[in-house]
Amino acid sequence: MMNHAAKAGKFLADLKRADWHDQTLWIMRKKRDKAVSCVPEWEELRDKASQIKEHVLSNLDAYLLQFEVEAVKNGAQVHWAFDSESFNQKVYSIINGYQAQKVVKSKSMLTEECGLNPYLEDKGIEVVDTDLGERIIQLRGEPPSHMVVPAIHLKKEEIGELFHSKLGTEKGLADAQKLTSAARQHLRKKFLSAEVAITGVNFSVAETGTVVVCTNEGNADMGVQIAPVQIHCMGIEKILPRVEDLGIFIQMLARNATGQPITTYTSHYQKPKPGGAMHIIIVDNGRSEHLGNSKYRDSLKCIRCGACLNTCPVYRRSGGHSYNYVISGPVGSILSPIYSINKYKDLPFASSLCGSCTNVCPVKINIHQQLYSWRQEIFEKRLIPTSKRYGFKFAGKILASSRYYNFFGKNIRWALKHLPRKVLYHRINIWGRCRELPPAPDKTFNQWYQENYKRN
Ligand code: SF4
Repeated sequence: MMNHAAKAGKFLADLKRADWHDQTLWIMRKKRDKAVSCVPEWEELRDKASQIKEHVLSNLDAYLLQFEVEAVKNGAQVHWAFDSESFNQKVYSIINGYQAQKVVKSKSMLTEECGLNPYLEDKGIEVVDTDLGERIIQLRGEPPSHMVVPAIHLKKEEIGELFHSKLGTEKGLADAQKLTSAARQHLRKKFLSAEVAITGVNFSVAETGTVVVCTNEGNADMGVQIAPVQIHCMGIEKILPRVEDLGIFIQMLARNATGQPITTYTSHYQKPKPGGAMHIIIVDNGRSEHLGNSKYRDSLKCIRCGACLNTCPVYRRSGGHSYNYVISGPVGSILSPIYSINKYKDLPFASSLCGSCTNVCPVKINIHQQLYSWRQEIFEKRLIPTSKRYGFKFAGKILASSRYYNFFGKNIRWALKHLPRKVLYHRINIWGRCRELPPAPDKTFNQWYQENYKRN
């Protein structure tokens, strides 16, 4: 498996795309800043949201059981799944129980995490993702590159080509409105023939047994209203105690994600339609183990707004597919090592540790500190290449001693000025492959300060 750096290198080979990707996400970040600045109590909301999540994580057992009791009272059927396998089996057995073959699904990172689509397709079930971005990547056979805007890495010309080959639209079509209209026509037929609708869950409310799904396209509602059977899939961490808590999270989710005041549709599902059936599957898949890890449990507070991706300079310049984990960006880099530190050991290093992710997080997850902490664990477990490990040790010694620091600084400044380029920029200098060092200064800051300090 290629690591993050190698995949990022591939993405960066197309510099135009990398620039455009970077700028598009930065526009989202700016929209977010504008929307957030319109809410004077934003920081109070962040505190409150973080406290509610903290409280929920400490009382998860009680709230989940309360949720189950209330949901069953409302007429829903509640199921529990310990891991991805039992989740996939459960979904299939529900679908099979109704002898259904056609499923429409709205966006759900949990079903991505569990590999639900390939599992159902192997059993002969047609699963159609109905979120436009999700449908695009499904037609391309790709995973999402961003948790909120899954096809953000694609240009409309590429989508035009895809629709031409898969949906029969005219060749060369690159008009966003016409492409959307073609997708709408295509999806309408799928909605009308669906027997089961699957949705993810943004929030669930313990006191009422309600699940809440936020979309901009209304595709979750369309699926649920038309198909006789609805299945809602939620991770155990999605629970909130009271309906009034929703007011805080709904205000924050879309603002922080895309800069909208609220998602176009915020749907509350509480009971089955007349003559229909409603199933809710509560999924653990490693979360309860994660909960017991005091250093990293805070990452379970995540509401999947995607803001930490939009602001991350590394994510913006490397693209979501460089991250080898279903959730990309900074939050994916702190979640993935919990599942396998060996497999995802490169991801905590895919960060500048600038802290911007932590600053924008609506539930105040200390993302950059967790990244740093993972790096230390990975280093201690000797999971990084030996050359890097010794490099870090060597750098640590130099940075810890002013004598060594001054000595090496002086020599490096001399080398940068006098050595030929080919000695400095070569195959082993990976850092220098895409970057130029600035000209070496004549003196250090320390020297400059001493001189100016004495003068003044
Ligand atoms: S970690 Fe925070 S900023 Fe990142 S997606 Fe989750 S809630 Fe949003």
